[in-house]
Parts: sequence; C-alpha cells; structure tokens
Amino acid sequence: ETQKETLGFQTEVKQLLHLMIHSLYSNREIFLRELVSNASDAEDKLRFAALKDDSLFEDDPDLKIRLDYDKDANTVTLTDNGIGMNRDDVIQNLGTIARSGTAEFLNQLTGDEKKDSKLIGQFGVGFYSAFIVADRVEVFTRRAGEPAGEGVHWESTGDGEFTIESVDRPARGTQIVLHLKQEASEFADGYRLRSLVKKYSDHISFPVVMKAESSDEDDKDAEPKDETVNEATALWTLPRTEIDDEEYKSFYKHIAHDFEDPLTWSHNKVEGKLDYTSLLYIPKRAPFDLYNRDAPRGIKLYVQRVFIMDHAEQFLPLYLRFVKGVVDSNDLSLNVSREILQNDSTVENIKSALTKRVLDMLGKLAKKEPENYQGFWDEFGTVLKEGPAEDFSNREKIAGLLRFASTHSGEPTENVSLADYIERMKDGQKKIYYITADSFTAAKSSPHLEVFRKKGIEVLILSDRIDEWMMGYLTEFDGKQLQDVARGELDLGEEETEEDKKHQEEATEAHKGLLERIKTALDDRVQEVRVTNRLTESPACLVVGDYDMGAQMKKIMEAAGQ
Ligand code: ADP
Ligand code: MG
Repeated sequence: ETQKETLGFQTEVKQLLHLMIHSLYSNREIFLRELVSNASDAEDKLRFAALKDDSLFEDDPDLKIRLDYDKDANTVTLTDNGIGMNRDDVIQNLGTIARSGTAEFLNQLTGDEKKDSKLIGQFGVGFYSAFIVADRVEVFTRRAGEPAGEGVHWESTGDGEFTIESVDRPARGTQIVLHLKQEASEFADGYRLRSLVKKYSDHISFPVVMKAESSDEDDKDAEPKDETVNEATALWTLPRTEIDDEEYKSFYKHIAHDFEDPLTWSHNKVEGKLDYTSLLYIPKRAPFDLYNRDAPRGIKLYVQRVFIMDHAEQFLPLYLRFVKGVVDSNDLSLNVSREILQNDSTVENIKSALTKRVLDMLGKLAKKEPENYQGFWDEFGTVLKEGPAEDFSNREKIAGLLRFASTHSGEPTENVSLADYIERMKDGQKKIYYITADSFTAAKSSPHLEVFRKKGIEVLILSDRIDEWMMGYLTEFDGKQLQDVARGELDLGEEETEEDKKHQEEATEAHKGLLERIKTALDDRVQEVRVTNRLTESPACLVVGDYDMGAQMKKIMEAAGQ
C-alpha cells in the first residue's frame, strides 16, 4: 500500500511543462496566484460539500490558507484545509490535462516566447506553473472525510514522471512544497511573498496566513504569531466606491487565470424582486477554445457568499460565452444543482438582466472607447453575430453593436456600425443595403454593386461564413429595413427616378424576344429573366428570389450534406 509508484505524465503535460518553463520566465510570479487560487477553490469546494455533510469540517472549521517559506532550505510551502485529494484524484489532476482541445492548442505554439506566453496565458497554466520556479515539487494531501491513513504524497521534478505513495496525513487538505530553483530563490522571502499575495490574491474569500516577521531582537526565540496578509473579503461583496481599478483587475486575473487586464467590467448589486450581486468582465483576448462546443463557459455561481459551481452556463446566453465573472444570488437555494438551474424562473430572470447588463456595458465601451471596442470586435465579433438568432428580444441592441466592412472606406476592416451607415444615408434612401459573399474581394467586385456605385449609395460588405445566416434573423434596425442587394427586385426608393422606370419598361418591351430566348436556353435553371437597371458595366447578373436561400447559405447546407 505505502509502496512508492512511478508514473509518467500524459504527453500533453510533458509538452506544456516544457513550453511553459521556457516561455513564462518573465511572468513567473504567477505561480503563486495559481496555487493560491487552487487552494481557494479547494476551500470553496469543502464548504459546498459540507452543506450536505458538516462532519467534513472534522475538527478544523476555520477555512484558511497558510503560506510559509524557508530561506535556508530555499522552499515555499502552501497549505490549505480544503477538500483535498485521494490517490485517484491526484493521478488524474496532477498527471493529465483533461481539457478538450489541448492538443490543438499545443500545436499553435510557435517557440516565440512572446507569442507563446500570450497563448499559454489564454490557456491557463494552473498547478503546473509551480515548475516555472521549482525544480522539485511535493504535494501532501488527504481528502476531507477519509481516514488519516489515506494521505497521498506526490513528487516530481517536472521532467516526464512523478512518484506517488500513501502516507499518514492527519490534517485534511493539501500542502504543496516548492523546492525553488537557485535562480528563483528571491521567492523564499517574506516581503516578496506578502506583496504577491496582496497583488494577486487580496480579495479571494479566504484568509492567507503567514508567520509575522519578527523584528524584535530580544524576542528572537518567541514563536512568531500568525497574521493574515490579504483582505480576505470576496471583492464583489464590497461597495463599488471602496474598490479601485487595480483591485478589479487583479480579481479578474484571479478568476479568469488571465495574464492580461480585462477590457472592461460591470459590478452591480441588485435588490428588490431579484436579490443578487454580479461582477462581469470582458476579456481583452479570446480564449483558444472559443469555438469549441465542449469548452467550459459561464460564470462562477455563489449563493449567499457560498461557492456553488464554476462555469454556471445558465446565466448568460451562448453568444456572450466570452464573459467572465461572478454572480452571487440570495434567492437561490444552497442545494441548487445544474439540473435545477436549467428550468428555474429566478435563473431566467437573472439571465435576462445580466444579458442586458453585458450588452449595455459593450454599448458604453463602443461609445466611450471606440478603439478598445474595435479590439473587442476583432476578438469576439463573430461570436456576437450569433446573437440575433439566439436572442430575439435583444435583437436591436445587438444589431447596434455589430460592425461591418463597407463600400464607404472600401477596406476589409469591420468598423462601420449600422448607426454610422444611417448617418450617411442619402436623402430619400429608405433601406440599409448589404451584400454577402465568400470573401471581401469577391463582394467588392460583384456586379450587384454597380448601380450603388453609380448612385453613390453605401453598401455594407459581409463576408463571414455566419453573416448570411445572421442576416436571416436581422431584418431591420432603427426602423429601417436591411436589404440584400442580390435579392429580388431592387427598389432604390426615391433614388430611382421616373425616368429610370420608364427606361426599364421600354427596354423590356424592346427585348421581349431576347428575354424569352435566354429563358428557354437556361430552361428551368432560372425562374425569370428580366431587364435591369442595376448594372452599369456587366451585361448580366444572377439575383436570388426574395424568399429563396442565399448563395452562402446554400453552400453551408450543401457542406452539411443537405
Ligand atoms: P484548474 O484549477 O483550472 O482546474 P489546475 O491545474 O490549477 O487547473 O488544477 C488541476 C486540478 O487539481 C484542480 O481542478 C483540482 O481538482 C486539483 N487541485 C489542484 N490544487 C488543489 C488543491 N490545493 N486542493 C485540491 N485539489 C487541487
Ligand atoms: Mg487552478
């Protein structure tokens, strides 16, 4: 039973460890944030499990995290009295990476330290970041509720293998001992560790405790006292006026495991019919698995300050899956489960309030910081485009947040809003015109644009795969109809003069025979052949019927085997 066993890391772990150690050198202090974060998660999980079974507290109900160091031994030790792990947990959690898409992520890494550190930051390094500063890591742990003899000792030097053996461990929870690399000895220092805890973990919900530094010469032999080095109040529970930007940013890094600051955030306490607090963040950069259906998403759920679950996906729609944050409800029961969340009217109401909150936050960003909004759009625009189909009731708000390429600049950058377009509309122009195509270049050279060019009317250029599908759900904005220029009869409103109309009628009459012949030649491949004033240079173009599927949509359906 107590025999030591040597096991190999999963291949992905080996790769990640190797890459991480080489590309995160300049970010290496984040190891402490990650480990404190895990300790805090473990305390949260214990408190949650103890709701059902309070014997799990054993005789140690004060949840806290200890941080110690030993200059001479060159070690840093982090101890929590959280949920702990059994042997299987340890092998699974500290030997593999369970996330789907990991292999693809690893393939994206280039060896360029700067680029890779960003990517790894987006991936989240977690426990393995210990090896950035340590050349040997030991973990001692025992799962809450299991006997002292069920303790586990894990040890690794981070190059390929780890050992695992059973040990006696009376204390519940997990202790991590970092044997620091020579060049990382600066971390075995009280001042350094304190300032890192303040910087990264000030507002986690649990106290981080260290031994007080004794400065008193006479008192040298006295046992140093414990002192709490962080604020230890969950940030979202404080009033907004008592929180500064730096605190908001560091809390974001704690919950999102991001290296970068968030783009913006919104913190709200709601009382009345609903009673909850939310703190929602928009990240700067998209995670590597934004389009992976199985990727974890959603915000952290607390009920009356008690952590309930990570990735509660019921509180925001899918098209806002990039949002990170916390919701703390006073209305839900502490027994709430994922199943209950799925059809709970309180959850529905919070979801619709949070959705509006996020859309408003983005609207404000677009107005006040257009450059940052553009950055947001470039990262997350395609996801937001799922909005009109998923969320009918907020269609108009979402439409206001969309950005398009346009014939106005003739550039492929998506930076024109529907409001910008409306401002530039010609006198008498009633509709917002757009064209969809496989690529920006194809759209730009389409014969459908000829008449618009002639008349100086702006056309939005849509070339994302999702665009035509989205436009199926977006028929108007600000009372103006959105019109595909390749669809049906073109009615350019008052832009079309009586003379134009007369000309078209006369031409139809004059070329009756020709139109008939073309129709016969094309057989039933077209519905109708008609004279048009849409063209100025090209002899002919194909038009889609008002109610027919567009070209892009057809391709998508064909690709899906329909
Ligand atoms: P993440 O925290 O994103 O899940 P990590 O790499 O940080 O990823 O940790 C992997 C897993 O190891 C955690 O999900 C958790 O199950 C386990 N773990 C890590 N540290 C602790 C700890 N202090 N106590 C209990 N479990 C832990
Ligand atoms: Mg973690």
